[in-house]
Amino acid sequence: MKGLIFCYLFLIGLLANAQEVLLDPKNDEIDASSRVGIVEDKLSSESFEQIQERVFIQNKSEHILIPFSNHTFWIKCKLKNATAEPQKWVVRWENPLTERIDFYVQETPNGKFSRFEKGSFREKHHSYIFENTPSLTLSFAPHQTQTLYLKVVNKRGIFSRLVILPVNALERTKYSSIQRWSILDGSLLIRLIYTFILALFVIKDLSFKRYSAFIFIRTFSYWGMIGVLGGWLTTYPYWATIANNVAIFLSPIGYTFAIRSVVDIRLFSSYVVYLLRIVLGLTVVFALLILLDYQWYWLKGAVFLNLGSQYMLLGIIAVACYRRYRINWSYGVPLLLGVASYSLVLTRLLGGLQWAGLFEVALLFFVLELLFFGLYLGRIIRTYEEEQLTIKKELYFKKIQTNQLQELDELKTNFFVNISHELRTPLTLIGGYMEDLRRQSPQNQVYEIVSRNAQRLLVLINQLLDLSKLEAGQLQVTLRPLRLDTYLKTLLSAYQSLAESKKIRFTFHQSQEEVVGEVDQDKLEKIVTNLLSNAFKFTEAGKKVEVGVDYAVLNNRLIVRVKDEGVGIPNDKLAQIFNRFYQVERPNHAKYEGTGVGLALVKELVNALNGTIQVQSKEGEGSTFRVELPVTYRDDVSIDAEHPQSPLEWSSVENKIAKTSSKRDVDLRLLVVDDNADIRQYIRSIFEKDYWVVEAENGKIGIEKAFEMTPDIIVSDLMMPEMDGFEFCKRLKSDDKTSHIPIIMLSAKANPESRIESWELGADDYLLKPFQSEEVRVRVQTLLEKQARLRTYFSAVVGVEKPTTETEEASKERGFLLKLYSLVEQRMSDSEFTAELCAKEMGMSQSQLLRKLKALTNQTINEYIRDFRLQRAARLIAQNEATVSEIVYEVGFTNLSYFTKMFKEKYGKLPSEFLTQEG
Ligand code: ADP
Repeated sequence: MKGLIFCYLFLIGLLANAQEVLLDPKNDEIDASSRVGIVEDKLSSESFEQIQERVFIQNKSEHILIPFSNHTFWIKCKLKNATAEPQKWVVRWENPLTERIDFYVQETPNGKFSRFEKGSFREKHHSYIFENTPSLTLSFAPHQTQTLYLKVVNKRGIFSRLVILPVNALERTKYSSIQRWSILDGSLLIRLIYTFILALFVIKDLSFKRYSAFIFIRTFSYWGMIGVLGGWLTTYPYWATIANNVAIFLSPIGYTFAIRSVVDIRLFSSYVVYLLRIVLGLTVVFALLILLDYQWYWLKGAVFLNLGSQYMLLGIIAVACYRRYRINWSYGVPLLLGVASYSLVLTRLLGGLQWAGLFEVALLFFVLELLFFGLYLGRIIRTYEEEQLTIKKELYFKKIQTNQLQELDELKTNFFVNISHELRTPLTLIGGYMEDLRRQSPQNQVYEIVSRNAQRLLVLINQLLDLSKLEAGQLQVTLRPLRLDTYLKTLLSAYQSLAESKKIRFTFHQSQEEVVGEVDQDKLEKIVTNLLSNAFKFTEAGKKVEVGVDYAVLNNRLIVRVKDEGVGIPNDKLAQIFNRFYQVERPNHAKYEGTGVGLALVKELVNALNGTIQVQSKEGEGSTFRVELPVTYRDDVSIDAEHPQSPLEWSSVENKIAKTSSKRDVDLRLLVVDDNADIRQYIRSIFEKDYWVVEAENGKIGIEKAFEMTPDIIVSDLMMPEMDGFEFCKRLKSDDKTSHIPIIMLSAKANPESRIESWELGADDYLLKPFQSEEVRVRVQTLLEKQARLRTYFSAVVGVEKPTTETEEASKERGFLLKLYSLVEQRMSDSEFTAELCAKEMGMSQSQLLRKLKALTNQTINEYIRDFRLQRAARLIAQNEATVSEIVYEVGFTNLSYFTKMFKEKYGKLPSEFLTQEG
């Protein structure tokens, strides 16, 4: 039994105690790792003496692994000089990250141990991994044996070897190590700078930028791992070590960037994105914990986190492969190589994969990562440039395309604008002649239909013209101050009679009176009248149409609401009603007249004014259109309540006077006769710029004013108190003083009888209420042009007998002209016969005669008489029956030289020359 115990103890002793390492200088490097004994002091409480008493356990592996802990580890190593020469050997602990390592060496003479404190917490950090490696030089006498103790205190787990080298071999190792690490560091530095420059200035591609961020983090993390980074940042060994460790564990941040360059992370479930964020957050937390509280468990946690994030990357790439997602291998391959390298080292730190060549393999992967990235970089740059080129090409083509489209659009608009202008003129003519025909044969329905359709076409063309001008930006917005309340009231009052005739209740209310705002009158009118026309069109008798105007003075808005109780618009069609030419199909209704342009125009107009339009509608219940326009309200302009002017010309008093007098200069006089003040105001607003507008509130007053001012044109309502339009028209047309004045009748009555009647009474045109400003303007214009044609005709035939062909108007006025003719003929030789006498004998005031004559022949009375005399003189001279001076007296001239001058002016010759030539 004793023998057995002895044997056991012997074996233990053999296993437990460090084996002797023979130092033979023939070997360049002796790895003592597998021959050392290790003992663990869990409480770190034992003294060196106590430790010496302990039984050391023989290390079984080729390496020495110090786990993550607060424990102290003792390593014992017996070294024997195998030669008969004194030798110097260097003992190296091959891990530069070891925090504290003490070398206990027996000094030869007295056998006492000396302690040498080494480790990253204690020594200054150098730029080369070689110099940071803890080492000690020992001297050996011939055949001397020395026992070496190492005390390692390390929170972060480390993996190391104990190597012994002859001093001279150390130099060689040093240079080869420096060479090897320098090449690696240099390559890394170049890669870092290169990618940095590329990412910043050359490759403006997000994937590349992400991968560059990864490379940045990864490189510093590597420098942390080989223990050189800290020394660059600080001279304090403690903080340099912490910095190295923080850098090592920042790698997962890099991975979260890199994986996005390899695959499109959006293809994955959103959990993957969350997972990446969690990894990012945890990495930051662990880095902070290591920085602030350097403990083994944070360090170990960080290793797990690092490894975990690497497996996560592998998982994502595997899933991407499986699902056949696009993988960018240019980034994918180097990333995988990097992950392989790093994960090998980390797994070994945790105690796995304990084989000798692991570090070399890891290093190989790392070098391959570098190489492949370099190789792929070319591909990345090429792909990027190709993409850029494609983008540029596409952009270029798009630009060309847009330019072409723009040109085409312009061409289209121009073509359209031109053609519309061309269409407008013949259409106006057709309309005008049709009106004439209609007047001549009121019973003929065809004329009526043609005329109405011509009118519709004209309106449509005008609207389309407006639309295309708006689109081409050719329709300017002209804002002018306008008395909004009266303007809108008059505009809408025109619809009152339409409402009455359609038996629709029509109400109008506004939030305020006396408001002046800067608006584009023309556009506002078009918006409101289009909406209102639709409301009336789609509403049946007995239902209601409401217009509400809200002057939101505080926020400078004008809100117009047009609400009807009409057929409504189906919900699914609401979005389309503002499209051009769109009309809601209503199978159950009779077809409504329309073209589908109105609302499109309204929408464009509202846009041009920077406003908004909304519609709410329910089928069968009605629709509400709400237009909101920006308006600048003006309270600095006072309003003339008697004559609210629309549009207002407020600039200054002088300006106003100037404007008024210039109107007198034009001397075109328009008389408007209507009992409705709003309508009078509306018409005034239309013509005020170019005409001297006079108002009369009924036929009777109208007659008085007509005689008094002899207007150039009259616009009169049909239904009026005191004297209605028929009577008014009859009276004016049957009086010589006013018979020539064109009259436009306004009426809500659409029945042909009243139209026929007013034509029989001599009205020149007939306009249905409600009418748009453009309509009256065109009618007035047309009538005045007709008048002008008549004038040319009469001025050409003055003084001569009735010609063979004559228009109707001309024949009507011929009676008057004949009367004048015979009067002047009778009094021709009377040199005292003046304009005043002439008017008196014609039964008119001088101004009445003057205006009528001017309207018919464009001559004043004096001019007419003088012309008459000169013409008669010419005839007499040509007959050669009397001398020139006799003739001069016969035709009422008293002064021969004045006659000669006048004659020369008219005929371009002297009377004597005229005689010889005519004779
Ligand atoms: P149009 O009236 O000439 O057909 P619009 O552009 O004015 O063209 O209107 C487009 C379509 O919107 C009309 O066909 C009509 O069906 C619908 N719509 C417009 N206003 C109303 C309304 N107040 N009530 C019902 N439907 C309407």
